[in-house]
Amino acid sequence: MWGCEPSDLTCEWCGNFVPVPSKSDIKRSAILKPSKEYGYNPSFYYPKRGGCGAVIDALTENISQLLVNTEISQIDLRNKKVFANGIIISYEYLVNTLPLSCFLEMLQSSPLKMLADDLRCQQVTVLLIAIKGYHHSFSWIYFPDKEDPFFRIGMQSSFSSNNAPADSYSYYVEFPGLINPSRSMEKKTIQILLKKGLINESDEILFSIWKHIPYGYVIYDNQRTSIVNMVLKDLENFQCLCAGRFALWEYSFIEKALIQGKDVALKIHTHSKSV
Ligand SMILES: Cc1cc2nc3c(=O)[nH]c(=O)nc-3n(C[C@H](O)[C@H](O)[C@H](O)COP(=O)(O)OP(=O)(O)OC[C@H]3O[C@@H](n4cnc5c(N)ncnc54)[C@H](O)[C@@H]3O)c2cc1C
Repeated sequence: MWGCEPSDLTCEWCGNFVPVPSKSDIKRSAILKPSKEYGYNPSFYYPKRGGCGAVIDALTENISQLLVNTEISQIDLRNKKVFANGIIISYEYLVNTLPLSCFLEMLQSSPLKMLADDLRCQQVTVLLIAIKGYHHSFSWIYFPDKEDPFFRIGMQSSFSSNNAPADSYSYYVEFPGLINPSRSMEKKTIQILLKKGLINESDEILFSIWKHIPYGYVIYDNQRTSIVNMVLKDLENFQCLCAGRFALWEYSFIEKALIQGKDVALKIHTHSKSV
């Protein structure tokens, strides 16, 4: 998943993501169903309709001045200006949610720019598969075996029955790094899913989509934390705050991104009232 040796990583990312069962619990789980819940999300909220995007739609419903589908190309922290597609936007406070390395690259005449290359990240390639048939639902499963080319499989149709038609289900299969979409990898994946009993011989593959995610997993190497702390502190001096998994260059999840967004809004509100 990380695309590097464990010895290249610190343990800082483990907290929320690596369950620590006792020896007896591990032994017990070989014969009985686990009785304890592990991890940060053994249960979670999910929109009934519209997938995760429904949360964003609801949050932005009452925002009138919203510019979307606009690529930011440069940022001038000193003069408080953002450049996008020929448009120049002036701001008082800037909240960055773009990946931190990509944000730093866009900075005009700032020494922080040269740190962008020191922030490492693993890419992810996802194969989305729609299947007609029936299968018991599950949320996601990790696959640590060396022979499996993917590391995790999830089933969107189990999160909400509205995510797929009644007689169908949908999978996302996550591969580490940049994979060239190919029929042979798709066939191999289907074969493994059959072998593992995750799909049935009688199922019909309706369609599949490959998706490349350039920012997948932030790599917690030895320099990640000191660089991130220094950069975030420096940016704050320019009334620029960051929120979200990639802006804070961390391994986290959607709930945390939402809370970070709220915290940043409160911080700006308090700061603007005090000056
Ligand atoms: C492979 C993978 C699996 C995950 N699984 C889970 C999970 O199971 N559960 C969970 O809770 N979380 C999961 N996450 C994490 C979740 O996706 C993030 O926590 C969440 O998306 C962070 O939201 P965000 O708004 O901060 O950033 P993002 O969703 O990354 O949004 C940043 C946006 O900035 C845009 N952008 C980039 N550059 C520019 C530019 N120059 N100009 C304008 N826009 C730009 C991007 O297109 C993107 O839309 C997963 C993430 C990945 C990558």
